[in-house]
Amino acid sequence: MLENIIPDLKFLAGVGTKRADILYKELEIVTADDLIRYYPYRYVDRSRFYYIHEIGSDVPFIQIKGQILRFERQGEGRKQRLTAQFSDGKSTIELVWFQGIKFALEKLKTHTDYVVFGRPTLFNGRYNIAHPDIERPEDLPPPEQMGLQPYYNTTEKMKHNFLNSKAIQKIMTNLLAQLKDVQIAETLTSDIIKKYALMPLKDALFNIHFPQNADKLKHARQRLKFEELFYVQLHILHQTKLREQSVNGFIFNKIGNFFNDYYKKYLPFELTSAQKRVLKEIRTDVRSGKQMNRLLQGDVGSGKTIVALFAMFMALDNDFQAAIMAPTEILAQQHYETISELLERMHVNIALLTGSTKPKEREKLHNALISGELHILIGTHALIEDTVKFHNLGLVVIDEQHRFGVAQRARLWQKNTQPPHILVMTATPIPRTLAMTLYGDLSISVIDELPPGRKPIQTYHYFMNKRPTLNQFLAKQIAAGRQIYIVYPIIKESEKLDLQNLEHGYEYICEVFPNLKIGKVHGQMKSQEKEREMQKFVSGETNILVATTVIEVGVNVPNASVMIIENAERFGLSQLHQLRGRVGRGAEQSFCILLTDYKIGADTRKRLEIMTETNDGFRIAEADLQLRGPGDMDGTQQSGMPFDLKIANLAQDGRMLEIARSVAQQILETDPKLLSEKNLILKNQLKKMKKEPVNWGLIS
Ligand code: ADP
Ligand code: MG
Repeated sequence: MLENIIPDLKFLAGVGTKRADILYKELEIVTADDLIRYYPYRYVDRSRFYYIHEIGSDVPFIQIKGQILRFERQGEGRKQRLTAQFSDGKSTIELVWFQGIKFALEKLKTHTDYVVFGRPTLFNGRYNIAHPDIERPEDLPPPEQMGLQPYYNTTEKMKHNFLNSKAIQKIMTNLLAQLKDVQIAETLTSDIIKKYALMPLKDALFNIHFPQNADKLKHARQRLKFEELFYVQLHILHQTKLREQSVNGFIFNKIGNFFNDYYKKYLPFELTSAQKRVLKEIRTDVRSGKQMNRLLQGDVGSGKTIVALFAMFMALDNDFQAAIMAPTEILAQQHYETISELLERMHVNIALLTGSTKPKEREKLHNALISGELHILIGTHALIEDTVKFHNLGLVVIDEQHRFGVAQRARLWQKNTQPPHILVMTATPIPRTLAMTLYGDLSISVIDELPPGRKPIQTYHYFMNKRPTLNQFLAKQIAAGRQIYIVYPIIKESEKLDLQNLEHGYEYICEVFPNLKIGKVHGQMKSQEKEREMQKFVSGETNILVATTVIEVGVNVPNASVMIIENAERFGLSQLHQLRGRVGRGAEQSFCILLTDYKIGADTRKRLEIMTETNDGFRIAEADLQLRGPGDMDGTQQSGMPFDLKIANLAQDGRMLEIARSVAQQILETDPKLLSEKNLILKNQLKKMKKEPVNWGLIS
């Protein structure tokens, strides 16, 4: 769009060859378009003076005019600090220095007019400003001339080359000066702009860098956020439409004996209404003629397995085969056992295929698959190997999706003449806004209700000093026949130290309970050894399992009633929740104990509070998103965010995302290929989107 005006960035005033090179290497900024889309990360409001009583929770950097009433020195040596009571004539705020105390005392006088400048932070229920900039009012230009100052993120390397925020601001000034009298082509249709009262693109770009005032900045941000979210959604939904048009889905029209017999004769309990709802959603998909790509989210223990089973019956009733794929051997094994048990009195042929299936057995299994004699195959990724061929595979259920690699899933598509229906199940709930972006082209089903009669897990946070009491409690649980998990964190950076902690913990617990069988599992063990130790715990041979997070996913030991998480401060929320989900699977009351050091930060405290307050995975996921931001959440790290959002924030802009998505939906409904004249803008803009998102529909 701007190539005609600024064909080469290095010729822009303030840039030059060297800086152009740095901009490219450090920020991937190549063109003037890239540059203008490099938004400030914050603004400093020097356009007006604030009153202290106006300071609220979302205050930016502000300036206040007033006088210092008095100073106070506290502490000694390295702990010393200086505070000053600063008054704007109506109320006071505290200014704080931890360094440069002498200098401040020499320079500043009481009862003299100053402009104080900084970011107020809340401390013990009161706002203060640490290390403020302080100037005499007569040294400053009038506020109207200062406005909102943009600040840009820069890297170390950029700073070394004098490309700091100020320099970028300068370059941006030059860029905008050149664009002042130039038309900048709109990227949204006039319909959308009008309907949602959005700021025109050119205005928005100017105001995002140099806001005329706070209100204009707000509108500029809204406009650019909307545009960003809208195009992500348009892209995802457009791809989905294209896929639906080019790929047919098998039609499972019949509900037959497999489904009905099981439902009427063998189903051991009443389905929850959430389970029924999800089954209806699946049923609608599989008879639509389109390929199903559905993500089923449901907390641990919400009963996803039975839903998967009924979905598989739908395939079987229409003469198709079905498969379940699990991320580890032990989980595949457990699925096999559970499903064998559920199907005990049905004539369904099922088999297990994992890496350790013997060649002879494998051959038999392959034959039964090809002939169609085998109805359901359960396995690890072994079942997507090329040698595994089906007679007529119609549905694949993938358990715990994020442990599967992208390429592995793509191979499923080659298992039949047409791609099978796909149901992905996950116990890591993803907040809606994130799901709409990460898995935007998967339909989403949610089981938001636990089967009746469950005793909610009781969760407590203890400091280390509670260990003796805790040991007594453990002894009681063991005496009652229960089993116990003790989990230690392992992070890459200090793996050695972590392993040491685990070893010490193991030795300690062996000393405390010399008569018990205590197992140990961690990632450094050979996988066979690991499986063997796990199996011992599953079978009840060991009473206590000391482990790292290798036990996180899916293992089912209903007899385990206590989960102790050591150094709980070092786990993320989703991970804590996942770990907790290993208990509470039987009839007994279960407990989760979060142990931490005395010293924990505010964020950690918040995490632990949420854990002790609720068992609801969705609430926890939402809190996790708010606390950590979308990029750092469990489950997104493995798959990666398919889109880099520059200005929108999935944790905060959920409402706007919903609107953007529905606008995109409406447009594609009437003009799926974006062929109409007025949608040309959108079509061209879509083409320009740099980063191709991972196409989840195709691979999951
Ligand atoms: P998850 O969603 O974690 O995979 P499971 O499918 O393993 O959960 O179900 C957990 C337990 O709840 C199983 O023992 C299962 O038999 C039981 N269950 C599932 N649905 C119901 C229901 N509607 N009523 C009672 N128990 C149920
Ligand atoms: Mg499960």
